[in-house]
Amino acid sequence: RLFSSVPAACKEINKEPPDILIVDAMMGVEHLAPLQALSCPLLFISNSDTFDARMQAAQLNAHGYFLKPLNIPQLVNRLEQLLQEHRAPPPRILVVDDDQQLAAYYRLVLESAGMEVRILDKPRYIIDQLNSFRPELLLMDVHMPDYDGPDLAAVVRQYDEWSSLPIVFLSAEMDLGKQVDALSHGADDFLTKPILAAQLIASIRVRVARSRTLSALLNRDSLTGLLKHASIKSTAMNEITRGFRQGYPVVVAMIDIDNFKSINDTYGHAVGDVVIASVATLLRQRLRQTDMIGRYGGEEFLLVMPHCCAEDGRKRLEDIREYFSRLRFNQDGQEFACTLSAGMVCSTDAMHDDQDRLLVVADEALYRAKRRGRNQVCH
Ligand code: GH3
Ligand code: MG
Ligand code: MG
Repeated sequence: RLFSSVPAACKEINKEPPDILIVDAMMGVEHLAPLQALSCPLLFISNSDTFDARMQAAQLNAHGYFLKPLNIPQLVNRLEQLLQEHRAPPPRILVVDDDQQLAAYYRLVLESAGMEVRILDKPRYIIDQLNSFRPELLLMDVHMPDYDGPDLAAVVRQYDEWSSLPIVFLSAEMDLGKQVDALSHGADDFLTKPILAAQLIASIRVRVARSRTLSALLNRDSLTGLLKHASIKSTAMNEITRGFRQGYPVVVAMIDIDNFKSINDTYGHAVGDVVIASVATLLRQRLRQTDMIGRYGGEEFLLVMPHCCAEDGRKRLEDIREYFSRLRFNQDGQEFACTLSAGMVCSTDAMHDDQDRLLVVADEALYRAKRRGRNQVCH
């Protein structure tokens, strides 16, 4: 909904709070103060890239600052990201402490703050626990009878996959030298016992949020917010392997926009970007939360749908293809439409019992769809 003044917007916001508020900073600074108290994320658009303007946005607790001319895909991407954070799953915390009573206390405190907590009682099985629980943060005691915290941290860091897992030590250790030593063994922070519940919750929440942001920056493509090539590929491999092992079907699909070169040539690269971003948004809207979507190449997407049989996969791809072909894009009053082609394979299709092969077969199916005239799904 559009408002032409801050007071008008504020009146409405009090009645029905929005999920996100976007404000043009040119509306006049003097009116912006009430925005500070908002409970929803606030984004600014502005044509001023000065430190003062940005500082003012920060003081109003803005969640983003976008310069004009607006990069629409970038803004849409940020909106998607904020909405996703809203729906984000609770942080998963693994607690390692030989004092069972204390561990149970941490669990109680963190669970009451909406986190998912597991206590590790046998440190030698820490890697198994990491692999099965997949925590986002490790909260660890420093002194334990069998193994010291810093040594356990060093073992965790030997695994590439866990090299960036946030590790926080919690200890009654007052010796600064020993604290520094623990940090140099790959820990991220050192909290001293006894710690207030509120302080524990806040420091863990901040660490998990920061780590989620970093991993999104590392693994997600900035135009679409989807997983990048390497991430979707390894995610696909893991999921296919798990499907084979546990005996459920997985559908793998490749999607490519049709005649995309001519869209770039006719309307320009920026419009091409909008088309790519809209395919990403459509895929996110039409697929399940558990499906995985990545930007495999320039205008090529890889989808992985676990617990999905060939027939359902085909139906869902058909639905996406159909919907996309009905979308209308607009450039300077000129309307145009695009289509996409898809190739798919299901892990239960005979012969394809190796993961790499499934991607190749999906790619071959995509090329069949192109050869047969585009705007279709081939299996
Ligand atoms: P086909 O139907 O056979 O797929 O035809 P096509 O024109 O889409 O052919 P192809 O898939 O080979 O073309 C891909 C084009 O996508 C070439 C490249 O210039 C363009 N492209 C790749 N990445 C981007 C991007 O990030 N933004 C934009 N605007 N264009 C991109
Ligand atoms: Mg193409
Ligand atoms: Mg292509």
